[in-house]
Amino acid sequence: MFNKVLVANRGEIALRVIRACRELGVQSVAVYSDADVQAPHVRDADEAVRIGEAPSSESYLQGERIVEAAHATGAEAIHPGYGFLSERAWFGRLVREAGLAFIGPPPEAIEAMGNKTAARKLASAAGIPIVPGTTEGVRDAEEARGIAARFGYPVLLKASAGGGGKGMRVVRDASDVEPSLEMARREARNAFGDEAGYVEKYIERPRHVEIQVLADNHGTVLSLGERECSIQRRHQKMIEEAPCIAVSPELRHRMGETAVAATRAAGYRNAGTCEFLLDRDGAFYFLEMNTRLQVEHPVSELVTGIDIVQWQIRIAAGEALPFPAEMTPRGWAIECRITSEDPANGFLPSTGRIEYLHVPSGPGVRWDGGIEAGSVVGLHYDPMLAKLIVWGANREQAIARMHRALDELVILGVATSREFHLRVMENEEYRRGEVGIQWLEQRLPHLLAIGAPEERRMAAAVAAALLAERDRDTRRGANPCSPSPARGDAWLAAARREGVR
Ligand code: ADP
Repeated sequence: MFNKVLVANRGEIALRVIRACRELGVQSVAVYSDADVQAPHVRDADEAVRIGEAPSSESYLQGERIVEAAHATGAEAIHPGYGFLSERAWFGRLVREAGLAFIGPPPEAIEAMGNKTAARKLASAAGIPIVPGTTEGVRDAEEARGIAARFGYPVLLKASAGGGGKGMRVVRDASDVEPSLEMARREARNAFGDEAGYVEKYIERPRHVEIQVLADNHGTVLSLGERECSIQRRHQKMIEEAPCIAVSPELRHRMGETAVAATRAAGYRNAGTCEFLLDRDGAFYFLEMNTRLQVEHPVSELVTGIDIVQWQIRIAAGEALPFPAEMTPRGWAIECRITSEDPANGFLPSTGRIEYLHVPSGPGVRWDGGIEAGSVVGLHYDPMLAKLIVWGANREQAIARMHRALDELVILGVATSREFHLRVMENEEYRRGEVGIQWLEQRLPHLLAIGAPEERRMAAAVAAALLAERDRDTRRGANPCSPSPARGDAWLAAARREGVR
């Protein structure tokens, strides 16, 4: 096992990796930007190294500096978390060439899966079902129209270099091909500096179901079963579950085998995820492989009992996987991404200081957070503040527990997605599991139109009144330990956002 691991990330995922290190008896090194001097991950690691200014291009994306920090502190391995440098093959190479271990897949596997057309070709050659469409780029609108006619409308134009839903356009008839291709290309050029695109069949109302895999360096590749990630907004996942209500043990077995085959075909090692679209007839199609740890990995951990992050580290250190090939999920897990986005305001990012934080607890509740009271939420990094994850004996209990935990959660100072998650947990269609990837976008106006129940409004009103009183006291100088007037105002504003108009 390693003695020391450097964590090349920030926020909740840095804390998650630091915790895994601590439980393994491994020392951890944090890196941080000027914006994160006070961040929890800096304090919780055994050591911390400043790597640059606030913009991630000047800090968390500075591969050379991160490798230098590893050398300076004597770390033997680097865990990239997700985002930032996690899927940059060049960084994996840099780490390897520096004589360090990269806690993730080999750079060759990142490259093999990094380009959508290349990944489709690889999967198809391995006998894996892919969404019907081309595996080569399209030259022009005429060719795209020809392909679309062959597969039938609607089709999806996709950027080969795509990610995060960028460079993607649904086309419903031939007259739409030309303008849509133009738009998709422009978006892809701006986002990836590469306009190459291809055409695939648009699957109507599918579910997004993904399989978590673990692969060691001794030839074992394991499927840890599926996650349901259909609750998406603008192709960004908001809520994830394990298992998936639409997946039978037999389907789980087949999807697992397919994911394992894709993993082997790519020469993949460590933790990875194969994403599939599952259509309403139970047919599934390989979409892509995410060559890193996923945000939503905790739901798989809770139903399998396997600590995925610890196994990432163990695998990189050369250990062999000891688990049985087939895994039956135990119970049900749900994750809600708590972001600093205001649902009442088109999910506009909200910034400010976290004035108060009450973290839910009790049976079956897990909080993977990167914030604390006093944290400043700015615009430099991803708006995800924390993940609230629950486990229940079955889906019904998990939903009730998530609702209860969200109810307990209090974050004052910035607007968050909490209220939105409460509305989803209350929704009858969601509770019946009748969701697909378009469900959220279609239901969003309805979900957001439902105000906070009276009780919650009352509680928020009481909180606001108390805060206002304290604010007045402070101004009078009654209690020097009370929040300053400016902070009181922020609390009040936050309480208003909680439902007091
Ligand atoms: P990205 O890498 O940009 O996230 P993906 O290929 O993973 O792109 O697609 C993003 C999302 O778009 C998927 O999660 C799914 O919701 C939707 N999607 C992708 N391909 C199709 C398709 N052929 N039919 C319907 N929806 C799709």
